[in-house]
Amino acid sequence: HLLESGLKPDNVHKRYPEVKFLNYKDRKRILITGGAGFVGSHLVDQLMLAGHEVIVADNFFTGRRRNVEHWIGHENFELIHHDVVNPLFIEVDQIYHLASPASPPNYMYNPIKTIKTNAVGTINMLGLAKRVKARLLLASTSEVYGDPEVHPQREDYWGHVNPIGPRACYDEGKRVAETMCFAYKKQENVEIRVARIFNTFGPRMHMNDGRVVSNFILQALQNNDITIYGNGTQTRSFQYVSDLVAGLISLMNSNYSFPVNIGNPDEHTILNFAQIIKSLVGGTSEIVHKKAMTDDPRKRKPDISLARKELNWMPKVDMIAGINKTIDFFRSELVRSKHQERN
Ligand code: NAD
Ligand code: UDP
Ligand code: UDP
Repeated sequence: HLLESGLKPDNVHKRYPEVKFLNYKDRKRILITGGAGFVGSHLVDQLMLAGHEVIVADNFFTGRRRNVEHWIGHENFELIHHDVVNPLFIEVDQIYHLASPASPPNYMYNPIKTIKTNAVGTINMLGLAKRVKARLLLASTSEVYGDPEVHPQREDYWGHVNPIGPRACYDEGKRVAETMCFAYKKQENVEIRVARIFNTFGPRMHMNDGRVVSNFILQALQNNDITIYGNGTQTRSFQYVSDLVAGLISLMNSNYSFPVNIGNPDEHTILNFAQIIKSLVGGTSEIVHKKAMTDDPRKRKPDISLARKELNWMPKVDMIAGINKTIDFFRSELVRSKHQERN
């Protein structure tokens, strides 16, 4: 009967990861904007496995169907090609609003579009949340602290952002997105959650997105120079993606409605980070220095006491273990892209 209706045998026998059964009362309809991207697709996996209905809205600027293809066709899953700069009318219980370019080369590529996505896109999602009485979680960023003058960064620090520099389209875009969340909360009683996400890495990071983790691993795997921007004394604190996803889900389902840092306080200089990657990958790469990036934050490390207290959350994955998984991912991506070139 199915074959007669035009379905291919492959589709009939497609096997999905096994999802938990949730009764009607506990099952939610959840929208994830930017759900075909790196973080969003891991969030899709966790919410699908937990038995919810998940709708992804993505314009595929940096996201890929491949990141969520294992769910395509599943009765609980829907993928919509949609740009959040345009209004969206659907019925949902929760919105994880992640749509935004995230890596510096991507958000600087078209700064006006970055501003529109964060400003107009967030207004639209808040308008949707207001209409359907959904709770909205904004994926904000440690970049709201700019080049911080306090260390580590706590949520009550107001930040140090250059409003007209090359990073401003993203930093100020996310800052106004936070402002809009609080305006909708105050004026319209929209339930909001704000996650200030610190540098995150893991499988499904885009090969060419230009972030330090993907750049260094790919350079080391191909025996190319490992490029440090500036002298390498700037610091970052890296969190593995599964820790972030656990933090986002517990924040969404908590009663806490002010911004919360979600990150791993394990801080490294970029030079030290390059040495770690080189020693884990092996190979013959040299570590070289290039021109420093304008307005590059000199140090960054989250104070996560609030997340511990309010969410009982803290990161679990050790950085080296996470990097090894990410190296394996990029190794197979390189094989795949060579294979595609040959065919
Ligand atoms: P990503 O680039 O992999 O994912 C972003 C997704 O948003 C992509 O799928 C992209 O196609 C989509 N998108 C972009 N503009 C859109 C638009 N106008 N309409 C619809 N979809 C659009 O990046 P990521 O690392 O997964 O980041 C996800 C979110 O987390 C972003 O909001 C980012 O600002 C935030 N964040 C990430 C990090 C990190 O280290 N990864 C750190 C801080 C904050
Ligand atoms: N919006 C949307 N989906 C909805 C409801 C609203 O995309 O289900 C958009 C709407 O197009 C508007 C924005 O969200 O541009 C803000 O909505 P709000 O109701 O706050 O403002 P208004 O429509 O009154 O300007
Ligand atoms: N960086 C680097 N070499 C690269 C890519 C990035 O030295 O090939 C540096 C960058 O200047 C910054 C840090 O690594 O100081 C983190 O950069 P990333 O783009 O990953 O994220 P950011 O935290 O700046 O948003």
